[in-house]
Amino acid sequence: MVDTQVDVRILSKHRPARLRLDGPRSLEVVASGNTLVVDGRPQPHSLRLDAGRWHVRGRGLDRGYDAALSLEAKDGELIVVATFALETYVAAVTASETEVDTPFEALRAQAITARSYVLASGKRHDEARACDLTHCQVLRGEGFARHLRRARDATRSTEGIVLRLPGGAVALAPFHASCGGHTAEPVAVFGAPDLTGAAAVPDRCPASPWRAVVPRALVTAAASVAVGGPAQAEDLLLDRDSSGAVVRVVDRASGRDGSGDAFFRALGARAGWDRIRSARFSMTLGGDQALLEGQGHGHGVGLCQAGAALLARQGWTAEQLLAHYFPRALLEKPRDK
Ligand SMILES: [Zn+2]
Ligand SMILES: [Zn+2]
Repeated sequence: MVDTQVDVRILSKHRPARLRLDGPRSLEVVASGNTLVVDGRPQPHSLRLDAGRWHVRGRGLDRGYDAALSLEAKDGELIVVATFALETYVAAVTASETEVDTPFEALRAQAITARSYVLASGKRHDEARACDLTHCQVLRGEGFARHLRRARDATRSTEGIVLRLPGGAVALAPFHASCGGHTAEPVAVFGAPDLTGAAAVPDRCPASPWRAVVPRALVTAAASVAVGGPAQAEDLLLDRDSSGAVVRVVDRASGRDGSGDAFFRALGARAGWDRIRSARFSMTLGGDQALLEGQGHGHGVGLCQAGAALLARQGWTAEQLLAHYFPRALLEKPRDK
């Protein structure tokens, strides 16, 4: 496990056409259609660059990566895949996914969660195992040096440690910004069988309330996607679990139903994820608008970052935090250590 490598499609959001790379060597790379141009010369194949500390600069972009890089050109865009040593990746994700004032034990819990997730997730993209966005795990490159140092320390102190399901598989252990006071049941959000080892548990994090007013037509469109057929906003019934999360939507007119997660995603994709912040919400219709009022931020399953930070400040260890958020998983150290 110590030698495991993780390849990640980086700069997924930037879609750069031109990059300046400095590290073991210095070069200028441009995507011209499907042709990769390196220092002014067209290159017939993709380009592989040895592992090292790479400084990557482009338009609005300045990042460091401790990885091997591979680049190719596709439709005028540079597709960049970074291959990290597992523990380097875990430290970079832990730094990217946490606030700078996160307590050390919460960073340790985050590192174990991130490590478990990437090992369990398999290959999620055509060109790499993971992307660098919230779809997989956020990886911003090496930004704030002090925070990265703490994240590295947290990673090193948990090296190789993962959460496992009772059957022995590494848990696909998810995390989110804030559950709003109660985490969500994994099967209700991601479907059965449970691969996360998490469970719905009460939490002490702040409620993180949110409200959004959206057009009724947007609710109608999202509901139709979720139930797989035409549905009207006024006919919708929202089923909630004990945490208050919408786990099922039913169109009372047609009897069609769909998962709450599908409804939440369809709403978020249309209204914006900064507005539809969680699946824990209620909905009130008025005129041609709908008022959504909810709590929390994120899917609500597994490690709650706001709660973990708060509990760690009260003296909880990473082991206690993980037992709280992943009661159906076991914390296992690598056998060969
Ligand atoms: Zn992804
Ligand atoms: Zn919470």
